[in-house]
Amino acid sequence: MKQIEWFQDYRQHKKFIDGVFQEKDVILQNLKDEGKERIFHVLSFGGGTQSAHLLEQHFRGEIHYDYIIFSDTGAEPEFIREQVRWWQLRQKQVGNTTPFLITHHGSMERGLEEMLMRYILTDYQRFQMPVYCNSVNQDGEITPAGILPRQCTVDFKIVPVKQAARKAVLELLGLKPGQRLPKDIGFIIDIGFSLDEIRRIHTYRSPQYEYIRLAYPLVEENRTTDESLAFLSNQGFPMRRSRCYLCPFHCGADRGIGMDWEEIIREEPFSFLKACWFDSRLREVQATGNKIMRSIPYLHYSRRPLSYVFEQEFRILHQSYNSRLQEWEKEWKEFIASKYGLKIVA
Ligand code: SF4
Repeated sequence: MKQIEWFQDYRQHKKFIDGVFQEKDVILQNLKDEGKERIFHVLSFGGGTQSAHLLEQHFRGEIHYDYIIFSDTGAEPEFIREQVRWWQLRQKQVGNTTPFLITHHGSMERGLEEMLMRYILTDYQRFQMPVYCNSVNQDGEITPAGILPRQCTVDFKIVPVKQAARKAVLELLGLKPGQRLPKDIGFIIDIGFSLDEIRRIHTYRSPQYEYIRLAYPLVEENRTTDESLAFLSNQGFPMRRSRCYLCPFHCGADRGIGMDWEEIIREEPFSFLKACWFDSRLREVQATGNKIMRSIPYLHYSRRPLSYVFEQEFRILHQSYNSRLQEWEKEWKEFIASKYGLKIVA
């Protein structure tokens, strides 16, 4: 597997030099200097590999956590949910009693599927996924136009973890959800990004809560994704990479990094069909001109319809699952219409 080779120490990286993120000890000291005497340590557990590495370090007593929190995006493949259950079982087996909480987006509790259905079926405009885009120039030529921001990670993963941590501490203190936390409470939430994912770090601060800070312990250990995978493999632990079944960051199986469309087709054929449905419906909705989105969206990095890229598989699966797909669509339409009280526009 290929890893970046141009730096091996996070201290040499511009993001660290520019103060985009800080070391955990520095964060801790700063919180104390701000009068935070009670600081809660939280692991944002993604259900995949790198945060599992941190979780196991916690089980071994190497890192302290007060809470382990998994935010379900609503589009996790079943094999990732199984992996989460595996880690919950391991926690019991090793006798660890840290609260292990499962949460989700605050208002769209059915997660990313709900956001997408709301976007497709109603006049909702906020699109939160990193789809690949094409644009049409003045001569009518189609040209690649980048990728939309990865807002879903923040909205469906990181923010729900912050909210769940805050709620857990309010409960611990016997306070109600709407009440203010005492001024001496602070949080440090560990995110399992690796050194080779340092580009994903945007801040150590929380735009939503000034008393929450984000830390990146694997980066501080200069650990790469491959090292976490090797660690899990050596122990015989599960090592599926966490992501949503329709994530545009899926690649081809030839890259060998374990986040490929082929795995979804093989393991969750119905989810693959749902991804094809979303992929094609997004372009239909964008073409109506009723959305702010001006570029043509694609879930596949080649900027081709998913059903063309995997044409043969799609044809076979569509025959097998078509009636189930129609049922699924009908159920979603009913849900969206009743929840948002809006006329279905698409
Ligand atoms: S795995 Fe992909 S689709 Fe899911 S939250 Fe992360 S970036 Fe978004």
